[in-house]
Amino acid sequence: MNFRSYMDEALAEARAAAERGEVPVGAVVVAPSGVVVARAGNRTRELCDPTAHAEILAMRAACAAVGSERLPGHDLYVTLEPCPMCAAAISNARIARVYYGAADPKSGGVAQGPRIFAHSQCHHVPEVYDGIAAEPAEKLLKDFFAAKR
Ligand SMILES: [Zn+2]
Repeated sequence: MNFRSYMDEALAEARAAAERGEVPVGAVVVAPSGVVVARAGNRTRELCDPTAHAEILAMRAACAAVGSERLPGHDLYVTLEPCPMCAAAISNARIARVYYGAADPKSGGVAQGPRIFAHSQCHHVPEVYDGIAAEPAEKLLKDFFAAKR
């Protein structure tokens, strides 16, 4: 089977988030069949919810669509390295593979910081692929924060 990246869909969600004044991070959840079951961008400001990160919202919607608190065999695409909270939720959801774009030296929890998936208390470790379309993802974030200053 040929690899198909769904990062463009995640980037579209990140752009939409920026237009709403939210930090531009987007995520999509892809079922084993290759169908996108959920897509989301950050909505922390809109929902007044510090947990409303793109990954959390996308997994929540995917779980609701599937009717289960777990998403085995599902892939998550996210434009930025997941934070510790999202990484823990990814593990709890039993996501099979995580593809992310930009590295996040400030708040990332996968390749740096607490490295959630490397922790002995992490019961499910997904396959992780980083640097997927990292450039456009990083540019979105840089432009967003530059405009804020
Ligand atoms: Zn997060």
